[in-house]
Amino acid sequence: MFFLGVLIHGILLRRVAASVTPTDGQWAQLNQTIGGRLYTSLPLAASCFSTVNGLPSTPNATECTLVQQGYTQPDFRFAHYSAHMMPQWETCQSTVQRCLLNSNDPSDPAAWEDNECWQGAIAPYYIDVRSEDDVLEAISFINETGVQFSIKASGHDYKGRSSFGSLSLWMRNLDSLSYSANFTPEGGNATYPAITVGAGTPFEDVYSFAEENNITVIGGYHQTIAASGGWVQAGGHSILSPIYGLGVDRVLQYKIVTLDGVSRTVNEFQDPDLFWALRGGAASTFGVVLESSMLVEPQMSLRVASISFNQTADNARGFLELLVNNSYKWGQEGWGGHMGPATLINVNPLLTLEEAQASVQPIVDYALAQNGTAVVEDLPSWQTFFAKYVESAEASVGVQTILGSRLIPTDPFFTDDDGKEALVDLMVKMVDTYAVNPYIIQGTPFLYNYTEGTTSVTPAWRSSLWQIGFHENMAYNATLDTMYAQYEIVNNITSWMRELAPNSGAYFNEANPYEPDHEVAFWGDNYPALLELKNKYDPFKLLDCWMCVGWQGPADERYSCYLNISSNY
Ligand SMILES: Cc1cc2nc3c(=O)[nH]c(=O)nc-3n(C[C@H](O)[C@H](O)[C@H](O)COP(=O)(O)OP(=O)(O)OC[C@H]3O[C@@H](n4cnc5c(N)ncnc54)[C@H](O)[C@@H]3O)c2cc1C
Repeated sequence: MFFLGVLIHGILLRRVAASVTPTDGQWAQLNQTIGGRLYTSLPLAASCFSTVNGLPSTPNATECTLVQQGYTQPDFRFAHYSAHMMPQWETCQSTVQRCLLNSNDPSDPAAWEDNECWQGAIAPYYIDVRSEDDVLEAISFINETGVQFSIKASGHDYKGRSSFGSLSLWMRNLDSLSYSANFTPEGGNATYPAITVGAGTPFEDVYSFAEENNITVIGGYHQTIAASGGWVQAGGHSILSPIYGLGVDRVLQYKIVTLDGVSRTVNEFQDPDLFWALRGGAASTFGVVLESSMLVEPQMSLRVASISFNQTADNARGFLELLVNNSYKWGQEGWGGHMGPATLINVNPLLTLEEAQASVQPIVDYALAQNGTAVVEDLPSWQTFFAKYVESAEASVGVQTILGSRLIPTDPFFTDDDGKEALVDLMVKMVDTYAVNPYIIQGTPFLYNYTEGTTSVTPAWRSSLWQIGFHENMAYNATLDTMYAQYEIVNNITSWMRELAPNSGAYFNEANPYEPDHEVAFWGDNYPALLELKNKYDPFKLLDCWMCVGWQGPADERYSCYLNISSNY
């Protein structure tokens, strides 16, 4: 089964011929070495069904009711290993084997009366990781057995990268938080105000902690994204990024266990090549991150503009034109935010309230003329903004959702009349053709003073003003044909965006899961160097994920649950 063993750092590294299922004895041994925290998994809603994985099962009404109540709640999903925010990644899409409830009405009994429950893509074994030693033991086991494994923090991934293989490392309970006004990266002298965040800590905890410490952490627009997981390793945009940079710009240090079983503290002084790779090369590629330390800002007050009105066939274009025409000026003034054809929630830490009101007056007038609502106000901190606006506006979970997106270059789409018109036309076409609304994020590092070469994300981030994304929701019981048809819509819209700006790129975390030419789209010129580092730090390719650096490709058996969607990989 195995050949070629190499002894490095005390761990026998082996090149594995094919994927391997460990024996019961090996699993039992692993369980013992990690203090009994190896578990077998079942799908989140298994307790509702009378047939589970092909065998008769007795439903548990109490547990099933709890699952129904929490089904679309981020915190509930976050707390359960088997749950992912986009439940199609719990399923085997290619065989339509799943165990889902109706996300429109989780108490709908048709979900469990008309269907069987299947394991889908959820790894059958998982380790509830509580310490660095757990990760070291896991890596040693993976090296010995060659078992295919994945890493899960929050399950927010839009590409299913945290749910496959036979073994999963569940990082959720590695949830530490500390703040130092004088943090010094190991090996350096300079000090920075920084927080250090464990691999499983969600942003909602980070923001509360920041509020208690009178600081601001630049982070994501959802309560349960893991701050030190996929977000900070692949880019990490925030609506404060226009001024303060992306997550990868602000990270000062990672602690990581690489696939050779070595625990490393990585920063600009120690393993600088790996530090660069982790600043954008994406998660689940170079090792298991235990924590990251990120630069923080003092607590800051924010000017907030919140606008909405009822969208009609007649009023969306006018609003989109206003957004496109004003966004360059707003970018220069320091605004960031989330916008759509009839909504906007933007923040600004630089302007006074009066300046902010004047800045957004054209869209306030437009919304009020549509009998909509418009508020421009001052809030004392990010946490107060987040609690008031984001928790009710953030993207929903528990619904099978496909995401597509591309980065939209500043020039010519916000600087030239023809460019602006082409951009508005594209967004109107999305709405008119597929009734799909653009989800616009002004979260690129537009004003941020970037030091060239310090991160490995696609350089397109630095020359773009917007990311345009969109959501396509699939019913919990969608047929295979319907799923293919819905992915086709996503492919069509992203191809329009690609035609509009062929030399731009896409944010790895939020791109179409079937983005063609993904190496260029996600990393641009940085890809060759990233691939070299992948080969250096994971020579036996123990860690792999969909469209990640060094990806083994769609034919690898790990990806048998993905759909066979044509692309040019
Ligand atoms: C509702 C929603 C809102 C979002 N909002 C934003 C936003 O505002 N800004 C933004 O930039 N992005 C946003 N995203 C995208 C988000 O950043 C990505 O989905 C990200 O990958 C989530 O990382 P996670 O670790 O929380 O999720 P997971 O699904 O647990 O993991 C994502 C990837 O990271 C890997 N990973 C996780 N932990 C580790 C670790 N400790 N070591 C190594 N690899 C690890 C996983 O294996 C997987 O490949 C959003 C996503 C959703 C679903």
